[in-house]
Amino acid sequence: MNSDLFARAQRSIPGGVNSPVRAFGSVGGTPRFLVGASGPYVTDSEGTEYVDLVASWGPAILGHAHPEVVAAVQQAAARGLSFGASTPSETELAELVIARVRAGSVSPVERVRLVSTGTEATMTAIRLARGFTGRDLLVKFAGHYHGHSDALLAESGSGVATLSLPGSAGVPADVAALTLVLPYNDLGALTEAFGRYGDRIAAVITEAAAANMGVVPPLPGFNAAVHRLAHEHGALVILDEVLTGFRVGRAGWWGLENDGGADGYTPDLFTFGKVVGGGMPLAALGGRADVMEHLAPLGPVYQAGTLSGNPVAVAAGLTTLRLADDAVYGRLDAVAAQLSAAVSEALSAAGVVHSVQRAGNLFSFVFGGPAQSYAEVKRQEAFRYPPFFHAMLDAGVSLPPSVFEAWFVTAAHDDAAVERILSALPSAAHAAAVGTPPA
Ligand SMILES: *Cc1c(COP(=O)(O)O)cnc(C)c1O
Repeated sequence: MNSDLFARAQRSIPGGVNSPVRAFGSVGGTPRFLVGASGPYVTDSEGTEYVDLVASWGPAILGHAHPEVVAAVQQAAARGLSFGASTPSETELAELVIARVRAGSVSPVERVRLVSTGTEATMTAIRLARGFTGRDLLVKFAGHYHGHSDALLAESGSGVATLSLPGSAGVPADVAALTLVLPYNDLGALTEAFGRYGDRIAAVITEAAAANMGVVPPLPGFNAAVHRLAHEHGALVILDEVLTGFRVGRAGWWGLENDGGADGYTPDLFTFGKVVGGGMPLAALGGRADVMEHLAPLGPVYQAGTLSGNPVAVAAGLTTLRLADDAVYGRLDAVAAQLSAAVSEALSAAGVVHSVQRAGNLFSFVFGGPAQSYAEVKRQEAFRYPPFFHAMLDAGVSLPPSVFEAWFVTAAHDDAAVERILSALPSAAHAAAVGTPPA
């Protein structure tokens, strides 16, 4: 039983989970302990099958346990799990990332380093930006999540929002003081910050499109303006595509915004994770050659990893990216459009005030007016989500267990899976409508 497994887990694992949002803290009830997954479905320890809209928080772009990805992983594993030495396939993956992140003749990713988690990628990108510029300050936007390293935990969206924490204990004040947290989509605030601290700011880090406080896309021109301002002041821009990269399109969110229009921009560093590892622990940072070559062994900025670029994870990432073609992105876009419209229709029919938040094939819902910032996202009637979530779960649909998360579709969401979601919507929307605020 899920409840027995959760009780047992809590005796040996803090909170019974290895990543906080899994604990169902903001929706209540018992987390499902999963034992398998295939295509658009996951199965829990009681044998109940759910249509999955979490997709491992993004990586399962092709659906779970895609046969070709599984075969590639099995073949790589049979040749050895990890060597702690270079392998040919690491270069193939780096080349593939470089080849995909380009628009016309512009290819801002000239070098790639593989790491094991998105947290490592952003942490390293920041160290690199500081080492390259010789400056200490970092700008991030409220509600953006960039992993759990010290510098990046201030006002960082879902995980901390779900737990109603302002940030994290254990981050020294001196470290937190080097991070300026600004409101998202607010160029005035950014202009002011550069006016005051322009010669001390090493980098601005921004989610390419924010999706860790629910989905909050950048306003048109915002990302371009961030780049222009930063570059005017000698600061770098780190475009965090850990979530959006290779999910919203072949070349990530940057690719969508830089498809030849006048408003192009060139990040100095990118971070990738999730899809690039195909479900295995693998992430990457990449960018300008002159910046990337400040990394050891060529330069003075140190970074290393025992399992970095290990052949099993690389096999999963390579195979996933090779299979993620235009047909895959077409399916993701179509399913996202269909589902977001259907949820909105069901909520409207039940009289629930809401707005659909979309960034490419990522979407979520705010129970209130449209939100362009963390402050606006937090203003919603979040109490409507837990009853909605549980009604969907009872009907066999697994949604992200927090209103502050994106919904993730996969290319394996076929008509049968979509139909199961659609048929669960009316009663879930009703549950949201009659939800009441906590006393
Ligand atoms: C998930 C995520 C991270 C952290 O990646 P992990 O692999 O969980 O460490 C960083 N940035 C963004 C935008 C993310 O969505």
